[in-house]
Amino acid sequence: MADKEWIKIKTRYCDHVNEAVDLQAEAVFPAEVLPDQPPRLGAHRCDQGYLCSLSDQAACVWAGTNPAFDPFLENLDKKKPKAQ
Ligand code: SF4
Repeated sequence: MADKEWIKIKTRYCDHVNEAVDLQAEAVFPAEVLPDQPPRLGAHRCDQGYLCSLSDQAACVWAGTNPAFDPFLENLDKKKPKAQ
């Protein structure tokens, strides 16, 4: 039987909660009869997503409550050098 486990894929600082958060993926490990298969990654979440969803501000795609906003993609856009 396959096993499921939430694993950390990266840690990022989030402005929404002003602290570092763990971004996790649900890994599905194959049954023992298929030992050489890599785990499959399914759903993604933030370890602060539940508490974040309780605040008065809309959360993000990592909490599953606002699929139109990913704070880390916004941060990447800010760091891109401007074309001259
Ligand atoms: S759910 Fe999104 S906005 Fe809330 S703490 Fe996690 S990454 Fe930040």
